[in-house]
Amino acid sequence: MKQRGLNTIQRDADLRRRVLDPVTRSVLVSQINGTAQQKDLSAPTNCDGIGRIRHFRQHVVAGWPTNPLPIFPASRWLGVDPPPEMMAQVYQLAACAWRCWYCYVPFASLRADPSKSVWKTADALVDAYLALEERPPIIDLSGGSPDLVPEWIAWTLQAVEMKGAARTTFVWSDDNLSSTRLLEKDGRSLLDAIATYPNYGRACCLKGFDGASFAFNTRAHPDGFERQLEILSGYARSEMNIYIYLPLVGPAGPCSRSQIEAILERLTAIRVDLPARTVPLYIGRFHTMVDRLDTQRDMALERQWELLHHWQRMVPALAQIP
Ligand code: SF4
Repeated sequence: MKQRGLNTIQRDADLRRRVLDPVTRSVLVSQINGTAQQKDLSAPTNCDGIGRIRHFRQHVVAGWPTNPLPIFPASRWLGVDPPPEMMAQVYQLAACAWRCWYCYVPFASLRADPSKSVWKTADALVDAYLALEERPPIIDLSGGSPDLVPEWIAWTLQAVEMKGAARTTFVWSDDNLSSTRLLEKDGRSLLDAIATYPNYGRACCLKGFDGASFAFNTRAHPDGFERQLEILSGYARSEMNIYIYLPLVGPAGPCSRSQIEAILERLTAIRVDLPARTVPLYIGRFHTMVDRLDTQRDMALERQWELLHHWQRMVPALAQIP
């Protein structure tokens, strides 16, 4: 039987049209105030409810490996020793083609809904960031799926530079590897432009470790996993400073060890340093996602520890992220 799922390419193109205004160079960002996500935040929202402070911590939970992202690359740029915790100013693009059950954003904030979002230029967002009384050293362009509008990343980097804040600001963005835009003929110069900024790093978020876990997590067709690896491969051939988040959740599998061996082989074949740039993403229970849990997903949360065990045996140098 043919497997069905969200049509990534079609949804991606439609959402892009709805979150980008190329004339005013504006993008649609989520209004976080008043959403279920607010209950998961450790600090109040800022910038009239469209920004939030995120505390990135190396310590994740007991027994899980530390998370060096984006603390290590940001610290390198800022010329400081990596601290245990770093703050970032987060803005969220108001759209994503997928519906991951563990997403910390309410699905209503992923539909490019103008009643739950605001049009903003990158310039205005950077100004709001620079005006913060306690300005964090990182801007995190998150989502939703910021790679629907990679222009946003380039415009933000330009604005930070033009306002004289590049030396003290590291720009970090999330990419769910759903869009080939930067790898197409028209996007290539944008990719090269983004890659030239030394104060930039990109989290490439795999949404599973094989086609079945990808479909289980995103509700999209399993082919999307191969597309994710193709996009990752394209980025890996560029100068862009990339890192990978790997969620270790999926349906009960035939053999967890062979599943980890397989994804490691795929990453190594793309570029030999990619496993060392990969951080296993701990999936915890957030307020936003608990209503989406069911027996299978609960089991997946338990099983992530077993998959982690194999990952750690095979990638012992995890803490040495380049
Ligand atoms: S790809 Fe990211 S933003 Fe989109 S649903 Fe999944 S976790 Fe949420």
